[in-house]
Amino acid sequence: MDAADVEGDLVDILFTEAEIQAKLGEMARQIEVDYEGKDLLVVGVLRGAVMVMADLSRALTRHVEMDWMAVSSYGSGTKSSGVVRILKDLDTDISGRHVLIIDEIIDSGLTLSWLTSNLASRNPASVEIGTLLRKPEAMKTEMDVKYVGWDIPNEFVVGYGLDYQERYRNLRDIGTLSPHVYS
Ligand code: 5GP
Ligand code: MG
Ligand code: MG
Repeated sequence: MDAADVEGDLVDILFTEAEIQAKLGEMARQIEVDYEGKDLLVVGVLRGAVMVMADLSRALTRHVEMDWMAVSSYGSGTKSSGVVRILKDLDTDISGRHVLIIDEIIDSGLTLSWLTSNLASRNPASVEIGTLLRKPEAMKTEMDVKYVGWDIPNEFVVGYGLDYQERYRNLRDIGTLSPHVYS
């Protein structure tokens, strides 16, 4: 049991800490191959991508620079609308840089496709996307996602950076919540 799941709210563990770390290792090996000989700036999307950024960057056996963006996407309920506002912009000038945007989950893909075109307009050498999780809805969008940990069913998951009402981000595993949490 996940030490941070003090109330036993997780009912179904989709991915354990060990499985997540192994997957990030595989993704890191691929990134090392693809970006060999190039400098690399990874951009984490706050707040959900904090854990992925921390563990993926440390799985890399090469130099990497890290920067962060915070965006809010407006939508009704749990669906994003594609209308995005930048709450915190990059501190880095990305012109001529190889940029890899890191997120923890892509659902509709609207937030990241907006972010990708925003960063692409700043004349980087390249912009790619890496995500730990992707839901089926995202595969209907035209977005090109270079690194995907797992494709998952269309259910609401928490843990490892993913929140429900700002809780559960500090769980080490990823899982679904017991129905009693929502009522
Ligand atoms: P979209 O790809 O629809 O624009 O939005 C992605 C964002 O919605 C993610 O960064 C995340 O904050 C949130 N999100 C989407 N699916 C889930 C989920 O299953 N669990 C949690 N906790 N957040 C999700
Ligand atoms: Mg996110
Ligand atoms: Mg959230």
